[in-house]
Amino acid sequence: MSARAASRVPVPSRTRLDATMAFDAPASQVRQVSPARAEALRKRGVQTVRDLVCHFPRRYIDLSSVLPAAHARIGDACTVRGTVHEVRLKRPRLRMSLVEVSVVDDSGVLMITCFGQPWLADQLSAGMRVAVAGTVEFSYGFKRMTNPFIEVIDDEADALGGMIVPVHPATERITTAWMRRLVRNALDHVEGCLDPLPLSLRLRHGLMSRGAALRAIHFPSSMTEAARARRRLAYEELLLLQLELMTRDEGRLVDAACAHAVGGVRARSFVDALPFALTDEQRAACAQIDESMASPRPAHHMLLGDVGTGKTVVAGRSLASVADAGTQGALMAPTELLARQHAASLGPLFDQAGVIWGVLTGSTPADERALLLERVAAGVVDVLIGTHALLEPDVRFRSLTLAVIDEQQRFGVHQRAALVQKGACPDVLLLTATPIPRTLALALYGNMTLSYLRARPAGLQRRETRVLTRQTRGVAYDAARAALTRGERVYVVCPLVGAAAAEKRAERAGKGPRQGDAPDEEERAFPEVAIDSEDDLREVEVASAKREAAFLQQKVFCDHAVELVHGRMAAAAKQEAMERFRTGRTQVLVATTVIEVGVDVPEATVMIVEDADRFGLAQLHQLRGRVGRGGRESWAFLVSSSRSEAALARLAAMEGSDDGFELAAFDLSLRREGDILGNRQHGASVLRLVNVVRDAALIEAAHADARALVDADPQLQGPEARVLAREMRLAFAAAEREGEGR
Ligand code: ADP
Ligand code: MG
Repeated sequence: MSARAASRVPVPSRTRLDATMAFDAPASQVRQVSPARAEALRKRGVQTVRDLVCHFPRRYIDLSSVLPAAHARIGDACTVRGTVHEVRLKRPRLRMSLVEVSVVDDSGVLMITCFGQPWLADQLSAGMRVAVAGTVEFSYGFKRMTNPFIEVIDDEADALGGMIVPVHPATERITTAWMRRLVRNALDHVEGCLDPLPLSLRLRHGLMSRGAALRAIHFPSSMTEAARARRRLAYEELLLLQLELMTRDEGRLVDAACAHAVGGVRARSFVDALPFALTDEQRAACAQIDESMASPRPAHHMLLGDVGTGKTVVAGRSLASVADAGTQGALMAPTELLARQHAASLGPLFDQAGVIWGVLTGSTPADERALLLERVAAGVVDVLIGTHALLEPDVRFRSLTLAVIDEQQRFGVHQRAALVQKGACPDVLLLTATPIPRTLALALYGNMTLSYLRARPAGLQRRETRVLTRQTRGVAYDAARAALTRGERVYVVCPLVGAAAAEKRAERAGKGPRQGDAPDEEERAFPEVAIDSEDDLREVEVASAKREAAFLQQKVFCDHAVELVHGRMAAAAKQEAMERFRTGRTQVLVATTVIEVGVDVPEATVMIVEDADRFGLAQLHQLRGRVGRGGRESWAFLVSSSRSEAALARLAAMEGSDDGFELAAFDLSLRREGDILGNRQHGASVLRLVNVVRDAALIEAAHADARALVDADPQLQGPEARVLAREMRLAFAAAEREGEGR
């Protein structure tokens, strides 16, 4: 209570330690945070003083670049500073208020019109000095601004240190102006706090102190200062996240980790058995994985590569190394189709290399399963390939030392953990086709070692992508028919998003284009079809897929066999359908996103994606990776009737680039800051000021610094490291609160 009564200037007797501890005191200890305001803040996830000083401005209004009213150009956004000449409150209609203010400076007059803010009439009066920021209009003979930002230039505004006004996110009960006041009081409360960043790091990167940075990010004297403050605080966020990620694994049983003897006879025979030579990148990835597998620390490696870059054989070779070590490996894939495909492609190679393997999925017959599990538990089977079926409690390994997870992003955290728990402390190898740029990967997976496969092995042919509209989709059908007469095969993909899609398709079969179907911008800003679980498909969607297949069979591909595969089919039926397509008994496969992973049919050369705007870029890219695998020229047609500019820009990007990494970077640049890290990973929510596109150098620096700190002091126990570790824990707790408040 006494703290609330404290004056704005910090009490001199307060020590550095007190100020530092004050960060984690309840926000109600801050001056002017009444119980009611504390409650309003709490609803926003702001509970402590730390939360309040980390309640960063959403933007700034720069009142320092002022123009004389006479020079303010119509249509431009600018700031004018002057004296209030007259204030008039009008009520032209019931429940409508309008405040008209005339502002004069040496050059002329500016009229201000403010709707719905009757209180302005009380706050402003003739003779006051004000700064107004807004867009200049011209009407009734005057330059005007409607609802501009108005700042009274009094002592307080001068105290803002220059004329940069921060706009803090407000709450229902606390206005921006009040928030500004409360944040300022909170800053006073922690004045003189200790800086958790070691001085050596601050000097190396030219970073301001924490206290100065916090004050400057809220109340900068220039935009440059705000940028410097942000950089300092962003670095801190990154360093703490990296430390968190890197020390998270320290609890694992490090002693139990297997230091694999790599490069043994089976690994070599596996490579010899390949019908092709590994690419340089594949060999580099193998070497990097070998290095982490050979280390006595538990390996945590991620292999990132676009579809078709050949991740599978790299993983296969690592699994062969495990057999050399006399222990066991597991390869888990997200779908039955994919698991079977891995078995079909890796199995013969394992056989030649003397690696004993088995495959386990949900449809493995019970007797076969029992026998297999027995052999796995006895350690007879070196490598077990499978689906989620591997996670069943009765699947026991004698000694699992390498867990490989293919398409890792398709599994949940718990599923990945469940596989890892099948061993004492297995090395983990994650494969992903989601092209995550290195900086983002570092931010999200700073604890992992990373290898990239960027180029497709030679022999994979050119692939062309074209965007078509509903009216021009005949081009795709023509190309598909031409391919079919050459004996090639065709995919048609329907995103199947609820009744809307069904409706559209029915309509297309019947009437012409619908009138006025302007896309809902909000909904379509980032349309991602999240059908991760095949069970998500509803009956209605299946029915619409059936209609699409029937339409194509009857109207488009009359001379060829069309078959439908969808998520509601039993695994066995799906597999049979796929088999017919693979062997060429059917030539056109109509599918939902089921084929996104798990299909490798070299003869497939044409893919038509309906309602392509409904897919995310990454998903589209992964989809089209299904054609052009057999060395023949191939085409992906993206059909969309969207008129949303954003959607069309994304499709145009698909047309313009065949490189998943380039697309990912483009995708990132489209997103709003907060969306980039989104819900991807819990830890990343501490990154509130970081922009993974712009802050690449900062991310690399923080990653390297954290690595060095953890290598030197794994438990973070030294005097400097201890301070950082404490901050790390508190920052994560705060990020969690904020997450709840959102
Ligand atoms: P992904 O990275 O998408 O999982 P795959 O591992 O399925 O890619 O490989 C795609 C195709 O490329 C497979 O048919 C595979 O046999 C082939 N492949 C992999 N490595 C090479 C190579 N070095 N040279 C030629 N073909 C390769
Ligand atoms: Mg793959």
